[in-house]
Amino acid sequence: MTTAPEAFLAREAEICYAVMAHVTDYDVWHAHEEDVTVDIVVNTLKKNTDVAQRTIQKLVENLREDSTCNCQNALENAFITHKDAMSPATIKKLGPLVNRYLK
Ligand SMILES: [Zn+2]
Repeated sequence: MTTAPEAFLAREAEICYAVMAHVTDYDVWHAHEEDVTVDIVVNTLKKNTDVAQRTIQKLVENLREDSTCNCQNALENAFITHKDAMSPATIKKLGPLVNRYLK
């Protein structure tokens, strides 16, 4: 599965985004791997869940409030259309995300 839609949505919402992906069923795409059973998949899923939870815990412990990334300003230079050329309905719909950029 792709996470491209989520990446686009996060960028448009000006929030940081990262993917943590875990494989549970190797034989689906690797011809030389053994066939897996439901039990193997579920066991791998449980292990991956534990890894994911520990990773998020470490992430939260290490988040920095003084982050210097520019995600929160991603739309700063994204507008070509002048506000006067936008319909009131469009401005109302996009307002929560873009009002600070519409001059
Ligand atoms: Zn960021």
